[in-house]
Amino acid sequence: MESLIQLQQLTKAYKTGEQETPVLHGIDLSVFPGEFVALMGPSGSGKSTLMHILGFLHQLSSGTYLFKGQSVAGLSSDALAELRSRHVGFVFQSFNLLPNTDVLQNVMLPMTYANVPMKDRLSRAKKTIADVGLSHREEHTSGQLSGGERQRVAIARALINDPELIFADEPTGNLDTKSGSDVLNLLQDLHKEGHTIIMVTHELEAAEHAERIVRLRDGLVESDTNHHTRRRRTYQK
Ligand code: ADP
Repeated sequence: MESLIQLQQLTKAYKTGEQETPVLHGIDLSVFPGEFVALMGPSGSGKSTLMHILGFLHQLSSGTYLFKGQSVAGLSSDALAELRSRHVGFVFQSFNLLPNTDVLQNVMLPMTYANVPMKDRLSRAKKTIADVGLSHREEHTSGQLSGGERQRVAIARALINDPELIFADEPTGNLDTKSGSDVLNLLQDLHKEGHTIIMVTHELEAAEHAERIVRLRDGLVESDTNHHTRRRRTYQK
């Protein structure tokens, strides 16, 4: 099977003025369509940086990033934005919903940038909101929802353009145990439906919902374990 994501010797250094801060030092990683991967590692190990590159929010410094076989290195920010809106949905720890805006509007927002015909937007949003179990909250504003409900709105928003790839950055970080486990179950359902999910988390309990755990340390892949079989994956380069 062709990998969705293939990284070879990927590096990233941030430049601020004269100063260069190397963060990723040569990542080799492949992710296949339909996988549910948890990305773990100590604070500062480069998880967010890697997620931002994989999700076309930042450009890599050197090495190879192939997305569905196409090279991403050197693409303009417009081209990256296009890839982002077509292929990727993001769920953040802090939900990032618009305040004073109802669930329906929040979920419809990404369609504005993706050329979805006006007539399809409402029905598509309603269906996606139903899929995350929030039809009864459509007209509530973000402030009128619990943390768990907000995260489900964020997931519906991430799903609205039917992306192949969903990134979840500490999606349970701000939630109580019950809401956190609802969100993880929802991600698992999406995984079963065939979505590819990459979740950054520092909680082992959350990571265990994934089928594969990739650990970073000091900007390198430290281990890569198939959680269910406890087998290490070896890459074909
Ligand atoms: P993690 O998500 O694992 O905590 P990050 O990717 O956020 O790690 O950060 C890795 C390192 O990169 C940290 O040392 C951090 O200070 C540095 N870093 C992150 N973003 C920037 C930036 N925009 N400019 C300079 N350094 C950064």
